[in-house]
Amino acid sequence: MSVRPQVVVLGAGFGGLELTTILSEAFGDAIDSVLIDKSDVFVIGFSKLDVMFGRKMPAEVRHSYRDIVKPGVRFLQSTVRSIDPAARRVVTDDGTFEADILVVALGADLEPEATPGLAEGGNEFYSVPAAFTLRDVLPRFERGAAIIGVAGPTYKCPPAPNEAALLLHDYLTARGRRQATEISVVLPFGTPIPPSPETSQAIIAAYAERGIRLVKERRVQALDPGRKVAVLTDGTEMPYDLFLGVPVHRVPPVVVESGLAADAYSWVPVNKETLETRFPGVYAVGDVNGVGTPKAGVFAEAAGRVVAAAIIAQFRGGPSPEAYKGAGSCYLEFGHGQVGRVDVDTFSGPKQVATFQEPSEALAANKAQFGTSRIQRWFGRPPAKRD
Ligand SMILES: Cc1cc2nc3c(=O)[nH]c(=O)nc-3n(C[C@H](O)[C@H](O)[C@H](O)COP(=O)(O)OP(=O)(O)OC[C@H]3O[C@@H](n4cnc5c(N)ncnc54)[C@H](O)[C@@H]3O)c2cc1C
Repeated sequence: MSVRPQVVVLGAGFGGLELTTILSEAFGDAIDSVLIDKSDVFVIGFSKLDVMFGRKMPAEVRHSYRDIVKPGVRFLQSTVRSIDPAARRVVTDDGTFEADILVVALGADLEPEATPGLAEGGNEFYSVPAAFTLRDVLPRFERGAAIIGVAGPTYKCPPAPNEAALLLHDYLTARGRRQATEISVVLPFGTPIPPSPETSQAIIAAYAERGIRLVKERRVQALDPGRKVAVLTDGTEMPYDLFLGVPVHRVPPVVVESGLAADAYSWVPVNKETLETRFPGVYAVGDVNGVGTPKAGVFAEAAGRVVAAAIIAQFRGGPSPEAYKGAGSCYLEFGHGQVGRVDVDTFSGPKQVATFQEPSEALAANKAQFGTSRIQRWFGRPPAKRD
């Protein structure tokens, strides 16, 4: 082990940011954490909806990694090109790193090209550039059919397509265009949020009230931009004037090439209590792993905490940390300024439990606080020390 232990964290999303924040709080300069991301800015997932529906300006939701000032943490903007998990060695565009502990928190990649016609004939809203572009596309949608369609079996933030439909309803209503438009949602499941029947019922009731059509148990296989139809997995064709897509998700190629994942659609296997991969000292945190929680920031953050606790126990001695519970609370926009909440606990009991809190303005305020508290914690400067 090197003199100052080196922790290399790949990916500065919810998982990587929370983990390095805790390590800085625990060790300060006594360990060397390198946090590597190809991007220069962090954007909270739900801010994409805020920008696309004109509720926030892009500049308000971009948080520069340059602002991370945490003892013991170095941020490096660089692309990870290869990972050797057996040697815990990582090659980036800006050098090679040998880690005592390696944390892979590279998230889920999007693969819009897996859906023929999506790039030419539709708009995905899951990447930052595409969601920000929609800010200028949506004002031009005046009449006709809008489809919010999911293309793959697994996707980040399962509530998000439903939130997009409910917010689109409000957006079109505010512009006086709702009577001239139709909204449909295409989902792969039998209900909007399968682990939570109460949440699903609330969404279905909201759809019924607003005249939003739900197309279940199907995915969007292709778009035909010439005929402006979406082709579903059962062959059904749905005409559209506006297509808002959730693209196929895949394991980042560099992770597949490392051998940590078997193929592009098999998320990294981990020990579900510790999140360690089959390689000692190599952890997979957040959306990139296949632990069985929904792919959402709150779970990535909780996973970062568990791995941080394991690293603290390893370097300081002390008891083993608590096992990962796969617990987290997801906020869900219902429109009309109301937000609901689903509290998920995956591993405490024999099966996953998800309880629903009715939409309210109070929960909308809690959601806003959730976002600002993370930005403050990860990007804010620590309070000045008093002599
Ligand atoms: C529209 C939308 C709404 C959402 N709403 C919510 C919500 O309300 N609540 C919630 O909890 N979650 C929500 N999410 C999901 C949430 O954003 C993700 O689940 C979360 O960001 C996952 O965190 P992570 O740390 O695993 O990965 P990410 O946050 O995806 O971070 C991975 C990082 O790795 C970097 N990276 C990838 N490959 C490389 C490489 N080769 N080299 C260098 N860097 C690389 C990326 O740039 C990225 O910064 C939403 C997502 C979307 C799209």
